[in-house]
Amino acid sequence: MDTACDVLIIGGGIAGLSLASELADRRDSGAGIVLVETERSLAHHTSGRSAEQLIPSYGPAPVRELTAWTVARLLDPRPATPRPLAWPSRMVLVGTEERLQSEAAPGTRGLSRAELVELCPELACSPADVVEAGRLDSTSVRTDAAALVAWHRERAEAAGAQVRTGAPVTAAEPDGSGWRVTAGEHRLRARQVVVAAGAWSDQVAALFGGAPLGLRPLRRTAALVRLAKPLAPDHPMVVAADHGWYYRRAGNGALVSPSEAVPSAPCDAQPVLEDVEDLLARLNTVTSLGATGIERAWTGLRTEAPDGVPVCGFDAAVPGVLWLAGQGGYGFQTSSAMARAAADLLFNGAVGPWCSPATATALDPGRFQGGPGAG
Ligand SMILES: Cc1cc2nc3c(=O)[nH]c(=O)nc-3n(C[C@H](O)[C@H](O)[C@H](O)COP(=O)(O)OP(=O)(O)OC[C@H]3O[C@@H](n4cnc5c(N)ncnc54)[C@H](O)[C@@H]3O)c2cc1C
Repeated sequence: MDTACDVLIIGGGIAGLSLASELADRRDSGAGIVLVETERSLAHHTSGRSAEQLIPSYGPAPVRELTAWTVARLLDPRPATPRPLAWPSRMVLVGTEERLQSEAAPGTRGLSRAELVELCPELACSPADVVEAGRLDSTSVRTDAAALVAWHRERAEAAGAQVRTGAPVTAAEPDGSGWRVTAGEHRLRARQVVVAAGAWSDQVAALFGGAPLGLRPLRRTAALVRLAKPLAPDHPMVVAADHGWYYRRAGNGALVSPSEAVPSAPCDAQPVLEDVEDLLARLNTVTSLGATGIERAWTGLRTEAPDGVPVCGFDAAVPGVLWLAGQGGYGFQTSSAMARAAADLLFNGAVGPWCSPATATALDPGRFQGGPGAG
């Protein structure tokens, strides 16, 4: 027998789960919500492979607005959680004065090279023409991705939402009042559908007749590496202003990334170990971190819209299909705000006044489909 629901969310990453949890807040019962995920486990793809950092000064203006909202929400979750979902964790951009100038964002503070080296002594040996100075974002926070995903799932299921794993959506057809959808062994009837399928979003929307937005999955690798000497617990994340690498403390070692952005088809992305080995060699040249070896490396797909701004809004041509995609490297830091915007659209038809009209318009997929924001 078909399962009927009000909202079918396709994709069990941070985007889909944040929405399922946000919808739990909107209804007496989440019984009308179903989330389906291809894989046997949630957050199997990009959402299980991030650096877990939320940086309010990072990204274009709409992303920064959504990040500030998300950070406030996660620092003060309701209801309160036994363990924090987010906690302060500073970030410092480092590079040439010229590059830092072009990356200067509101809420950050310039640091001289001397101040930077006091904060990050491992940069004392960096060539002075490569690391001239820094820019500190003290509002940045760290999250625990697995705990956040579990929290969203618990909230959604406690309100009656159904989460189905091993359930890839492979077919859809309109049925007059909504959609009839095949997801693995499940047959569903949904009034509204949310495409939160990460790198696969263009393909999934096509099943409903949606024109592709031109989303670009870009490979990025991260690795846990051993260090000769652990970093201090309050050591900031250090990000090269030219986006060539970053590192942050992770237990006694560090999480590092070569920050590559290599186009890829949607897939289970795997690391290229030489990229990480090259990075270690580079880091050991420009810092005194003393990285001694790789413990584990992984790769995910940061999927960007053509203009680099995430997408949240109804398809311009296909009724009842909402896009929640294109989060690029900002999927965690914008997650709660994107979920709230999506929930507003599903239940009220418009994003509420908590979000600026400029940002709500910037998110609309119509900008790629001849609708609002199209230029
Ligand atoms: C190395 C790296 C570091 C990062 N660091 C950060 C960071 O510090 N902070 C930050 O904010 N962001 C970071 N990001 C980006 C962030 O991880 C992503 O923006 C976010 O995870 C995207 O979430 P998502 O739910 O859209 O996609 P995904 O997590 O990929 O979820 C989409 C899901 O949809 C499922 N799906 C696809 N097709 C179907 C179908 N037909 N039927 C059912 N299910 C389907 C997939 O199996 C997948 O599980 C990083 C990314 C990488 C790779």
